[in-house]
Order: sequence, then C-alpha cells, then structure tokens
Amino acid sequence: ESILYVVATPIGNLADISERALKVLRSVDLIAAEDTRHTRQLLMHFTINKPLFSVHDHNEQQRIEKVIAELSAGQSIALVSDAGTPLISDPGFHVVQAVRQAGFQVVPVPGPCALVTALSAAGMPTDRFCFEGFLPAKSSGRKKQLLQVEEETRTLVFYESPHRIVDSLTDMADVLGGHRRITVAREITKTFETFYTGSLDEVLVWIQADANQQRGEFVLVVAGAPAKEDEEAAAVSAEKVLKVLLDELP
Ligand code: SAM
Repeated sequence: ESILYVVATPIGNLADISERALKVLRSVDLIAAEDTRHTRQLLMHFTINKPLFSVHDHNEQQRIEKVIAELSAGQSIALVSDAGTPLISDPGFHVVQAVRQAGFQVVPVPGPCALVTALSAAGMPTDRFCFEGFLPAKSSGRKKQLLQVEEETRTLVFYESPHRIVDSLTDMADVLGGHRRITVAREITKTFETFYTGSLDEVLVWIQADANQQRGEFVLVVAGAPAKEDEEAAAVSAEKVLKVLLDELP
C-alpha cells in the first residue's frame, strides 16, 4: 500500500531482530537492500522469500526512480542495510528524501544501531553527544577532522574499521592528547564483544599488544573536552590553594 518502511536489522546477533521488523519484511512486496546477497542470507535465516533489489552508494540516485515507480503502482517496500539502522553511515538518505518529497509515507521500524548500543554500555556521558561517523582514510584528513572537534565538550562517537583502528587511535592521541578517555566497543552483540576503557595512551598500548583486539568492527566513544568553565573553575581553585599555602609560609 505505497509505504516505504525503513527497517533496522541486527548488528551481529540475529536474535536482536524485532518482531515488527520480521512482520514488515514478511508483509512487503519488495525489499531494497544495500547488498542483496548479504540480505538474502538474513532473510533465509528467518525463512523469508521476497524479491530484492539493490540500493547502495553507487546507484542510489538511479534507484530512486524505481522506488517511486513501485510506490506509485501501490507496492510497499522495505529498505534495509547490511547491518543496523539504514541511513546511519549507510545508504538510503536520498531515497527517503525523494520518497517524502513525492508525498509517500515513510515508516521507520527501529532496532539495532551500533552507535546507540555502544553509548548505552560505554559509561561515558550520554546526555549530549556528537556522532562523527567514519574519520577520513588518510592521516592528514583525519587529523584535520579531529582538530575540528578538539574542543568539543560533548561525548564524541566514531565508527572505525579494523584496517585503520590503530592509525586512528594514534592520530586521536596526537590531536586530542594521550590523556583523553575513550571506550573502545568492539564486536558488539557478537561472540568476541569487548568494551575497554582507558586513556588514549593506555588503549593504544592495550590494542597494540594483542592483534586479536584489532579485528572486527569498532565504535569509539571518546570523552568530550573539559568545559571551559570547569577549566576556569579549576584554575580559580588552584589559585585559592596556592594563596592559602603561600599564606602559611613564614
Ligand atoms: N547502519 C549501521 C548502524 O546502525 O550502526 C552502521 C553501518 S557502518 C557502514 C558500519 C560500522 O558500524 C562499522 O565499521 C563499525 O564502526 C560499526 N558497527 C557495526 N556493527 C558493529 C558491531 N557489532 N560492533 C561494533 N561496531 C559496529
């Protein structure tokens, strides 16, 4: 009935799929997937058989026409990505924007999302945070990006791949300082799920000492910079202490 459902799928543990996600995937006419082979595996696991077509970064613009045509013909479509919530560091934004502009309903079916899942267990402030997605692939670009958030006081969240995890942590220590605290959330919801918290310097030592910790998928949850008022307050109280100590001197 001319609805585009945006359906979140598991980020590792297949038991995390929602009842509603299964219901929607079983009820739609078509499924638009980031990678059809990947999604077919998922569907097979739940014995769902539906026509699939691909919507990925390289064909998203062209596929918009197909999506609009199918919706116009009264078909319903589910949009899924390889893992987690579509559009979150995944394709789908242009499709959703175009479908809304064409006046069709877009219905989200919420579920797993690596950034929110990492935040929920990292032990870092979550009242305000900045999602930075993936840092650039090259060190120069990465450092430039990190410089832009150096003074950000909100918790920072990054996605990272196994190829770049050590290089990114090294650049973070360079730009943000080795004392900045970080939680590395690795392989969340999977067999080797690991949460490790420490200073950037400590985390680098830990991860470099064990190649196994460099494998898999990562969310990096980095503490924000101390608020300016906090720094000023700390300076004022240091001054007070100094004054008291000086007064004590003969
Ligand atoms: N749409 C997804 C979501 O909702 O989280 C994110 C897709 S993005 C292309 C893939 C990145 O998400 C990985 O490189 C990693 O940084 C993060 N990620 C996905 N699953 C993860 C998991 N199980 N554990 C840790 N990080 C994960």
